[in-house]
Amino acid sequence: MVSDLERARLTRPGAADDELLIELAECVLEELDLSPAVDHAIVASFRDVVRIEEADIDWSGHISWTSDGLVITVNAAHPRPRQRFTALHEVVHTFFPGFSMQTQYRCLPSIANGLVHPGDPAVEKLCDAGAAELLFPRRPFLNDLTGNTMTSSLLRGLATRYEASLEATARRIVTLNSEPTLFIAFEVSRKPSQPNNSPALRIQYHYSSGQWPFIPKYKAAPDDSVFYRAILDGASDEVTSLASLGMPQIDNAHVSAIYSPYYDNNGDLHMRVLAVITRPVHTGERRG
Ligand SMILES: [Zn+2]
Repeated sequence: MVSDLERARLTRPGAADDELLIELAECVLEELDLSPAVDHAIVASFRDVVRIEEADIDWSGHISWTSDGLVITVNAAHPRPRQRFTALHEVVHTFFPGFSMQTQYRCLPSIANGLVHPGDPAVEKLCDAGAAELLFPRRPFLNDLTGNTMTSSLLRGLATRYEASLEATARRIVTLNSEPTLFIAFEVSRKPSQPNNSPALRIQYHYSSGQWPFIPKYKAAPDDSVFYRAILDGASDEVTSLASLGMPQIDNAHVSAIYSPYYDNNGDLHMRVLAVITRPVHTGERRG
């Protein structure tokens, strides 16, 4: 049987799969006449999923054939916004050729390198991108961004409106914002190469659009920074230099940071700060 993605490839030869998935997602949302917050269960049902169930699993979720039909399983311990993203990620697998041939696992990043069959990384990335298209429909999300200053309350407000996690919302802002935008996740941790040093609020990973300098992993944010203040105040906003993060070229960044702690599978608390950073485009500078 020809999959939807293969059919789309034939209709638009030369178009990249990520572009085709944007169109496929838009078609689904239009067909179902869904607006935010998109009901992920309706989308799944439209793609012939008979049910979405929770289970105690070590990864985020998977989609598989059962005697009843196609079933999506999501991690019972994950918060609902995260389960919604996972369910939509699994839905996007149904666009791909041969998706039903094997169970598709959505892995936790920490176990992506071995314990559970993680699938093709390129396909997994496309399924994440497709899930973002379904969870944050492009047109309403762009309308919500346009004319609004990026602040921590806007980030929180968008996460609430789309019933999505703060991180998924921040990543969507990076993808769709017209200004160069940088998302950084910090955690209070020790530098792996210096396990005996005292913990600090360190960069764990980042995601960006437009041009940014090199972002050093594990760089610590100072105790008097806007990032650290988010832990004390819950959220913080400031126009500031990023010199203390090793980016002296960025002297007028608009930082919105939110404290977003979480517990891992072992029940350990992680003191995490999520930050969205924008900066004005200088005249003559090309947008990347
Ligand atoms: Zn997957």
